Amino acid sequence: MEMFSNERKAEAWFAEQRWPGGVRCPRCAKQDVSRRINRKPMPYYCRRCRRYFSATSGTLFARTRIPLRKWLIAMYLMSVHSKGVSSVQMSKHLGISQPSAWFMMHRIRQMWNQAQIGRGTPGNGVPEVVECDETYIGGKIKNRPLHKRRYIGRGPVDKHPVIGMVYRRNGFVAAGPVHSTNRATLQRFVLSRTDPQTRVYTDEHPGYRRMPRYHRTVKHSTKQYVNGAVHTNSIEAFWAMLKRGYSTYHWWSGKHMHRYVDEFVGRNNLRLLDPIHQMSVMVMLSVGKRLTYDDLTK
Ligand SMILES: [Zn+2]
Repeated sequence: MEMFSNERKAEAWFAEQRWPGGVRCPRCAKQDVSRRINRKPMPYYCRRCRRYFSATSGTLFARTRIPLRKWLIAMYLMSVHSKGVSSVQMSKHLGISQPSAWFMMHRIRQMWNQAQIGRGTPGNGVPEVVECDETYIGGKIKNRPLHKRRYIGRGPVDKHPVIGMVYRRNGFVAAGPVHSTNRATLQRFVLSRTDPQTRVYTDEHPGYRRMPRYHRTVKHSTKQYVNGAVHTNSIEAFWAMLKRGYSTYHWWSGKHMHRYVDEFVGRNNLRLLDPIHQMSVMVMLSVGKRLTYDDLTK
């Protein structure tokens, strides 16, 4: 709150994170830029493009009516609350309406979009080890009418399947909702995120069988949870966190499920940094992205 106590401080901090080597034009990336103090809200001028721009031009924060310092405080709150923050709580913290808070938070989730966060490079000659698993997110089965308590395979059909993996080397997670947990879907997920040398640990779900990877399983059906180094405890710990988050948000629509999963993946993958460095990375991740209200509601 102290750091971002006014707009000037917030904008200066944002510009410094976005352009650590000095201000660059978002269109041509050149530094042929002058600053016109009195020209708000676009204080920078690119002499090549002959256009004005601001620290937030070309980012997820462009054209927002919410003051930047409120955005930064929202990012901070979402970074430090491992179970997430509800849009009602956020609206009270920031003194804005709940629908505005809801929209803001979806834009912040967009920054955490895991596609932007790499899994690091495999070590020299040491095979990478991943744990892969699926889970189901959704309402409590006992609260549903009897005819809706149907199960197919391992999961209830009216919950949303989510697949994920943890890279043991650095604890990075990749995860996202899927339409089914059939063999093709599970293996596509694993194969697209691992190298041929990667060792993959899963439970005994038949969908992982005959995968072109070094593959070992633990047999949960016979109460075997750990077999030497072979276990899926790390990805299950991530599922536990995601499910605690589900209780914060009460209700996740299937439509926005990937955004909530992105939030938990993003927070997990940045958790070794202190909050201010996490925010600095998020500023970088906001560049070149857009999310409009129509994207969310149509
Ligand atoms: Zn330019």
